[in-house]
Amino acid sequence: MANGHKFVNLHVAEHPLIQHKLTLMRDQSTTTQNFRQLLREIAMLLGYEITRDLALAPRQVTTPLAEHEGRMISGKKLAIVPILRAGLGMADGLLELVPNARVGHIGCYRDHETKRPVEYLVKLPDITGRSFILVDPMLATGFSATHAVSVLKNAGVAGPRIQLMVLVAAPEGVAELHRAHPDVAIYAAALDQCLDENAYIVPGLGDAGDRLFGTA
Ligand code: URA
Repeated sequence: MANGHKFVNLHVAEHPLIQHKLTLMRDQSTTTQNFRQLLREIAMLLGYEITRDLALAPRQVTTPLAEHEGRMISGKKLAIVPILRAGLGMADGLLELVPNARVGHIGCYRDHETKRPVEYLVKLPDITGRSFILVDPMLATGFSATHAVSVLKNAGVAGPRIQLMVLVAAPEGVAELHRAHPDVAIYAAALDQCLDENAYIVPGLGDAGDRLFGTA
């Protein structure tokens, strides 16, 4: 993970496969089907990075040849929480990597006037002993992600147990999340230039939800 920027808690994945797939996603001629598949694949690759520090415990197994002390993930249980609706496309990829994770949902839409999130759904698994990966492809203004982290914290989840996984981040969104929740780490495939006057990320990839679900 590279950190060639000013944000201490932002990890940008420079892996060539991630960058290649992200460039395909940015291309406006990429079909809905391919966009969905690429988002799923990048979520898996980012998931590989985000789960890097999971604790391991020894586990004895018998191979066809010998006894062997292997290692398996222990302790921390995971929950994946997509911010609806575009987060669903990333949650699918992560679930392939961690199929026994619980899944929560936080539904927010962006009020086009105020650019502020309006919450319409919160459904979370039992938080006891669990770490949470919030997923949303676009960290634009940061208001939805900041709200979603507040929802988790208000439910009793400590900041260090929350990670945010995004595809593309805008500096404005990273700054907003860090201002409100400096204890939450962000994992992204790219840090883009800025927001435009409609709070879209530039160069970005357009409306992630519309491109994912083929709506307009
Ligand atoms: N949401 C999107 O889907 N795209 C953006 O560029 C910003 C917010």
